[in-house]
Amino acid sequence: MKKRFLTLAACALALCAACTDREPEVRNVIYLIGDGMGLAQVSLLQVAEEYRPTAFDRAHNVALITTRSANNRVTDSAAAGTALSSGCKTRNASLGLDTAGQPLVPLTVIARRQGMRTGLVVTSYLHHATPAAFYAHVSNRGETDSITCDMVRSDIDLLFGGGRKALSDTLPEGGTRIDAFRAKGYRIALEPAQIDTLSGLPVLAAVADRHLPAASERGDYLPQATRKALELLSADNDKGFFLMVEGSQIDMACHGNDAPRALDEMRDFERAVAAAMDFADQYPGTLVVVTADHETGGLTLPSGKDDFTLPESGVRAEFSTGGHSATIVPVYLYGTGAGRIHGLMDNTDLAQQLKAIIAKAK
Ligand SMILES: [Zn+2]
Repeated sequence: MKKRFLTLAACALALCAACTDREPEVRNVIYLIGDGMGLAQVSLLQVAEEYRPTAFDRAHNVALITTRSANNRVTDSAAAGTALSSGCKTRNASLGLDTAGQPLVPLTVIARRQGMRTGLVVTSYLHHATPAAFYAHVSNRGETDSITCDMVRSDIDLLFGGGRKALSDTLPEGGTRIDAFRAKGYRIALEPAQIDTLSGLPVLAAVADRHLPAASERGDYLPQATRKALELLSADNDKGFFLMVEGSQIDMACHGNDAPRALDEMRDFERAVAAAMDFADQYPGTLVVVTADHETGGLTLPSGKDDFTLPESGVRAEFSTGGHSATIVPVYLYGTGAGRIHGLMDNTDLAQQLKAIIAKAK
């Protein structure tokens, strides 16, 4: 009898521990997108680092996503960005609209409805396809005027990237988009060094005329801008936030079939991923999702010689196209809720799962 009592007590204790160990609710989501970052681009970094653990190795969970668009097995960044932001397929070149031309609801809007703050940090111009997929609704990604108009209207709390020239152009109706942001109460930074001095939201930092320089020339911009964004979005915030960070120029390096530059861009993006994971360590309730919109360059890493009985003959980086490829791309998950997303899925399913998580965020 005594033994039975002890067993019951042990069960009760175990149940109690299960209650108290329950994972906290997700309140912050950091969505990092390596533009053009397929499995080979991550492998390129691993090989170059001689398998020293990188931020990717810290992942608590992984998944894979397919990337095709509504009208092409090889997606462009506009359709893939739309899939990742709204959970819906669209045609290549289209941003934030479905195939019938109806506006889609991006994760930034779902987050705002929850009272969460929102931010975008990129190394391209801010009206480029991936960031624009989080606020714009246009049938062609080249419609710069409409995209920058939607950027002003989006009320996204924090925008860090390039695009200063397009935002400074005088509009037919007079004034510039930067004037429009200022009129809405945004603090404005037009040089990279000013980002660190920013305090308070909303904020626009357009710190290069077009894209920022390549990783080898832009220093610590991306990891520092990511840390600054996390600081500003989390300060005195009891409603959480949604932040998208893009390693925009992995794609540009791979379009140019430039492996050394692709490696620089991967190293830079990895440091931003590490900053996000460090934040999640410090602030439970933070989910970090690292993925790609598609693979660029058809990168492969073949061995120097194909006789594997010989000592290693080195690994080359070879590209098979100047465009994108149809291969699946990885998803790395870290922090609160990382266990909830796994398996092989479509890019739209990943976004739908994030929509559901954000809609329930506390
Ligand atoms: Zn892309």
